[in-house]
Amino acid sequence: MAKLKLITFGCQANEADSEKIAGVLAQEGFDLTETTEDADLILLNTCSIREKAEQKVYSLLGTFQKLKTRNPQLKIGLCGCLAQREGLRLKDRFPYLDLVAGPGAMIYRIPELLKGGAAEPLLPRPKEPLPLYVHSPRPRRESTVKAWVSIMEGCNYLCTFCVVPYTRGPERSRPPEDILAEVRDLLAKGYKEITLLGQTVNAYGKNLKPRTCFSDLLRAIDSLAGGEIRIRFTSSHPKDFTPDLIEAIANLKSVCEHVHLPVQAGSNRVLGRMRRIYTREEYLAKVRGLRQAIPDIALSTDLIVGFPGEGEEDFQETLTLLQEVRYDSLYAFKYSPRPLTPAATYPDQVAEDVKTERINILLQLQDQIALEENRGRLGRIEEVLVEEGPNPKKGSSATGRTRRNQLIHFSQEILAAGDTVSAVITESYSHYLKGKIA
Ligand code: SF4
Repeated sequence: MAKLKLITFGCQANEADSEKIAGVLAQEGFDLTETTEDADLILLNTCSIREKAEQKVYSLLGTFQKLKTRNPQLKIGLCGCLAQREGLRLKDRFPYLDLVAGPGAMIYRIPELLKGGAAEPLLPRPKEPLPLYVHSPRPRRESTVKAWVSIMEGCNYLCTFCVVPYTRGPERSRPPEDILAEVRDLLAKGYKEITLLGQTVNAYGKNLKPRTCFSDLLRAIDSLAGGEIRIRFTSSHPKDFTPDLIEAIANLKSVCEHVHLPVQAGSNRVLGRMRRIYTREEYLAKVRGLRQAIPDIALSTDLIVGFPGEGEEDFQETLTLLQEVRYDSLYAFKYSPRPLTPAATYPDQVAEDVKTERINILLQLQDQIALEENRGRLGRIEEVLVEEGPNPKKGSSATGRTRRNQLIHFSQEILAAGDTVSAVITESYSHYLKGKIA
């Protein structure tokens, strides 16, 4: 079999896309390899959300040129959001690139590109109608326990910092019967956890006929699964977090007690300039609604520090938001200006050293909050799905996740991936817990 080295950058949507690429190319006779040296095809599935990830891709492409000089048969391709954004310009800069393909549905055309000499990218240009999301030929899943299920592509919100609507296009939802068929297949194969994916996953269904909604999809999957598996979803937009969805999470046995609800900033002035279409107060009302319905719900979020024009007062409001919500975990990023996005042209960019200082303060506060919250969980018994058994080679113990999505390490226990156990929490840290079988 030919060898494929697949390197993935970025979010879960890209990880899921990579599993589809591996599935598509398996049908073309490609098997995955760990190293670039013995590869016949190297594909970089790229991310465009921050400059750092792009620089990494460019530097890797530079090193792959040497491999190609040694082995002219080697094919090198770029797919994902950076490929979509830069298109054929990439061929000018890296003439040894064999193929360029956008993200999402475009990956199903990679075999076509490979066979046809692969000189032309097949990128839908922004504003052109994008192909409807198509169900993949079977993705080649990394895990035998947890599976991603993409339920939609693209995004209709135009947050001023975000490049996603320009690279993944407008929102398209996958028909429910197609999603349910994939879930049935996963159940038959014994998967224990499904994560429904979409850029704004809870906006699902708006463009479908008949119109449906995310909570209806959750109900349909829950009734298929009969409470036997876990359902997670990411990422949600606060605007689409409806009382009906909160009720579904509270009542459906398979839906886990964890919500990732990106807030991005704590100040209304910054939220307005980000075009997030909610206020701090509206966001906090959704958090209260969730906690009233599901008191032990875990919350995580995304935050950007140093957005253009973010003053000290705005940043302090982000810190007070953290103190008010007390997230279990968060992803914080320094603002990175992205081509095509309005915020990149804002004149009041924040200095890099200020961004660094703010992110350090924010992460320190979050560590302290998470540690306090996790200490409060000592002695509790929680359901854990084991994701990895002990690995004597690495000297690591078994690890899993609670329904609240907290990472837990076991010591001494004989556990295997896919086991579901009741565990008592014995130690707690900011980013993980330790436990033993209860
Ligand atoms: S909701 Fe905003 S941040 Fe999220 S993908 Fe859409 S444009 Fe980007």
